[in-house]
Amino acid sequence: MALERTFVMLKPDCVERRLAGKVLARFEEKGLRLVAMKLIQMTQKQAAEQYREHEGKGFYAGLVKFMTSAPCFVMVLEGASAVSVVRKLVGATNGRNAEPGTIRGDFGLSAGLNLVHASDGVERAKVEAGIFFRPEELVTPQNAIGHWIENSEDAS
Ligand code: UDP
Ligand code: MG
Repeated sequence: MALERTFVMLKPDCVERRLAGKVLARFEEKGLRLVAMKLIQMTQKQAAEQYREHEGKGFYAGLVKFMTSAPCFVMVLEGASAVSVVRKLVGATNGRNAEPGTIRGDFGLSAGLNLVHASDGVERAKVEAGIFFRPEELVTPQNAIGHWIENSEDAS
């Protein structure tokens, strides 16, 4: 079992629609643990760093405008195979194609205003978390209840 950390954002549409609690609950109910979380107003610089890979694409300018338009939550989640598990919970990019049961499949109809961002790899998650958090803002998990996550693959 690979204990991983992933970086997640609840985008401005999610926050403005008052869905942040509901969406966060999806991750928590699955068994993922919060390592860091805060409400931010994303700067142009942060948006440019976050979405560098999409620079030049048709939707890039609109994406940066959207992400800097209103507050969003940024967070780091930890759990078994957190990167792929969270991507599965989030669903396909376009809400119209996303499977029912996924966050995007249940709450949206848009390709751009798709509620959530989730990192697509462990290394990428580290880079993205570094855009929004100082290292000391990532809280070291306490072991008091940590066994629940660490043993989540085992039936015994
Ligand atoms: N996006 C968009 N139009 C598109 C494709 C992507 O507005 O046709 C936005 C959307 O908000 C998406 C983000 O750009 O979440 C990053 O795109 P990516 O392909 O990385 O999708 P994701 O990894 O978020 O599923
Ligand atoms: Mg992506």
